[in-house]
Amino acid sequence: MKIAVIGAGIVGITTAFELAQKGHSVTVYEEHSSCAEGGSFANAGVLAPGYVTPWAAPGMPGKVLRYLFSKHAPVRVKGLGSSELKWIWQWLRACRKETYLSQKHHLHRLAFYSRQILHNITLKHRLDYEKAQGYMVLLRGGQEVNLMALALEMLKEAGARAKQLSPQEAYDIEPALNPVTKLKAAIYLPDDEVANCRQFAILLKDFCERRLGVEFKFGQKIALLQTANPLEIRTPSGQHTYEATVICTGVSTAQLLAPLGIKIPMLPVYGYSISAAIREPMDAPHSGLMDERYKVSISRLGQRVRIAGCAQIGGDIQGQDQKAISTLYKVLNDWFPSAARLNENVQVWKGARPMFANRPPMIGESNIPGLWLNTGHGSNGWALSCGSARMIADLMSGLPTEINTQGFAFKKT
Ligand SMILES: Cc1cc2nc3c(=O)[nH]c(=O)nc-3n(C[C@H](O)[C@H](O)[C@H](O)COP(=O)(O)OP(=O)(O)OC[C@H]3O[C@@H](n4cnc5c(N)ncnc54)[C@H](O)[C@@H]3O)c2cc1C
Repeated sequence: MKIAVIGAGIVGITTAFELAQKGHSVTVYEEHSSCAEGGSFANAGVLAPGYVTPWAAPGMPGKVLRYLFSKHAPVRVKGLGSSELKWIWQWLRACRKETYLSQKHHLHRLAFYSRQILHNITLKHRLDYEKAQGYMVLLRGGQEVNLMALALEMLKEAGARAKQLSPQEAYDIEPALNPVTKLKAAIYLPDDEVANCRQFAILLKDFCERRLGVEFKFGQKIALLQTANPLEIRTPSGQHTYEATVICTGVSTAQLLAPLGIKIPMLPVYGYSISAAIREPMDAPHSGLMDERYKVSISRLGQRVRIAGCAQIGGDIQGQDQKAISTLYKVLNDWFPSAARLNENVQVWKGARPMFANRPPMIGESNIPGLWLNTGHGSNGWALSCGSARMIADLMSGLPTEINTQGFAFKKT
């Protein structure tokens, strides 16, 4: 088929790759001048399938309320409008145990599948994208340790190899961890990893272009028109028709689909990352860590360290919340005080997670024939991208999917 992929973030690039591998003729349209310039630009890089869980979880509403009053809150709320309030209402209704458990199950299935495909692509095409092995969850105090038994149980159930560590065992694996900051215990996941999402996207884009004949059209903002069957897409240079169109537009998806009468419960949930050059390798982390109290990750990405966190509901992509950014600096300073050069060339990034209120990502055909969606990967778009792309490419090609697609099908609100 002649297929258009809209959006060249990590989801669009992996989708184009899988479709082209299956012999389709693929054109990718992207508003920015390059790939992975939106939500995929500077994420934390964590690939930890056992930790891919729904945002709507029992107990989360209470936690979020408590966070609102703390200085280093992992969740922040800014200027709520009607769409945010509607989203929060839908999210609250999805925090039921049964909904959580079934969605968690679907997400784990996709996340482990995704990791396997990522590894296969990496090996086969010899891609190098600043990967580091192992992921450690740091538990500062009794409150976090109390949840450890539950977390280990959950990880085991999901099929993740996870080990409880004493502080000394944690220092053995990450010798640069600052012993002055109180560490009660840690959880270690040796099979998990951190890696540079944007770099992978750029390498795969180049492969798609050079080896698979995928055409990339950058600087092209697309609108969708349902004036004809099949659907037409409008670019700045005119209107085009494809046998199929796949929407991989992350946080812009709801806006793009609205003129077609399709409403989906998606909201941008903003977050921040800081990336800085490593000052002295001996003082830097070897791989990825998560401070469970502040929900801030610290990732080693090649010669840089990246600290990421905060979930801001409401507001927009402009402007920066200095309190959220100061939490990132605090966590880095607590655990790796001498790791990075923080007085030169520091990249501070604000990105948005395409977050559904009440469901896992949508991967499948919409109610308009020929219009397909691969979107709404929330906090885990990097970890879920390769599996989602394989799934949609199989569905579009009329092939049996390698994993069960239950939970991911299109649904309007
Ligand atoms: C702070 C932070 C940390 C994160 N950490 C992790 C992590 O550790 N692990 C993980 O798995 N995930 C993480 N995520 C989530 C992950 O980054 C996202 O889920 C993922 O990047 C979404 O990818 P995407 O391709 O769907 O969207 P995007 O990367 O945003 O791509 C969508 C693209 O579509 C383009 N587009 C939109 N509308 C149009 C249009 N009309 N015409 C043309 N082009 C259009 C946009 O310009 C954009 O390039 C994090 C996110 C944030 C914000």
